[in-house]
Amino acid sequence: MAIERVIDTSLHEDDNEESNVEFSLRPTTFSEYIGQKHLKTNLKLAIDAAKKRGDVLDHILLYGPPGLGKTTMAGVIAHEMGANFRATSAPSIEKPGDLASILTNLADGDILFIDEIHRLRRAVEEILYSAMEDYKLDIVIGKGTAGRSVRLDLPHFTLIGATTQTGNIAGPLRDRFGHSFRLEYYAPDDIKSIIERSAKLLNTTIEPDAAKLLAERSRLTPRIANRLLKRVRDYADVNGDGIIDKPITEAALKLLEIDELGLDPADRNMLSLMIDRYGSRPVGLSTIAALTGDEASTIEDYYEPYLMQLGMIQRTPKGRVVTEAAKKHLGKA
Ligand code: ADP
Repeated sequence: MAIERVIDTSLHEDDNEESNVEFSLRPTTFSEYIGQKHLKTNLKLAIDAAKKRGDVLDHILLYGPPGLGKTTMAGVIAHEMGANFRATSAPSIEKPGDLASILTNLADGDILFIDEIHRLRRAVEEILYSAMEDYKLDIVIGKGTAGRSVRLDLPHFTLIGATTQTGNIAGPLRDRFGHSFRLEYYAPDDIKSIIERSAKLLNTTIEPDAAKLLAERSRLTPRIANRLLKRVRDYADVNGDGIIDKPITEAALKLLEIDELGLDPADRNMLSLMIDRYGSRPVGLSTIAALTGDEASTIEDYYEPYLMQLGMIQRTPKGRVVTEAAKKHLGKA
């Protein structure tokens, strides 16, 4: 297994989303949810329209790299609709029966959130089609020749699906979402605001220039910003008087080996291996995974999006190509 990275965007044990502290970092209303203006404007409109009609909200697909606030936004939508929020993730729905039981336990107006929806099994996904389109559940009762299919009515619910890989969602599923929104990387100023908001909630003082520095190293991603903030807070508690100033932040980031662009040793290692072995030639995803010892999906979800955003890696039909910018950054130009 690859090393656990501070700056990767997956959920870590110490993110403790369920614990009170982390829970309180999650915005619950549109006004607390920083950035993503386009998304908020469009969602507000959809919510107002649904409320005015006294209707349920159309199904919504949220996509984009991990840690940008998809789950958080799903919760905000439920809050703004005054609806119950039920959250699950595709890998935990093993059989069609599991989904059937989730669906039949919903009430009218409920919001069902399915994370990593691109990972739904085929048989489970097929149940979802009629549930989304007609609020009907088709199930087979009995086995073999005695089996017969029955159609049950379901409550009118809203499905919010989240995915890092829209390309891997089957067409029929994608078509059943009334809205589909892409979450963008945050502007550094927005990340700075998120850090300052989180620091307040954590009862920690962070000086503006320290927040700015931390924002620059956070890969434009709220989850990483919050995680780095907690690490720097620990460092400030142990090595200072608890106040996070710029020198403390610089020292903590140095210890974590996070460079000016937010890259960590794992990113630099991957880029170096690609440059040393392949130069400017394209490298296949599975080859990169073999080089670093990660799963291909880890490379795709956690390394690549930000490196592409920085222009350090390009995707071509023949594979991934490291750019001059990456070579320059690593001193290998
Ligand atoms: P995703 O579902 O896209 O992987 P999450 O919704 O779990 O991401 O967000 C990760 C963390 O980042 C959350 O715990 C939340 O505290 C923080 N966060 C995400 N988006 C925002 C935002 N727009 N404003 C403030 N904090 C945010």
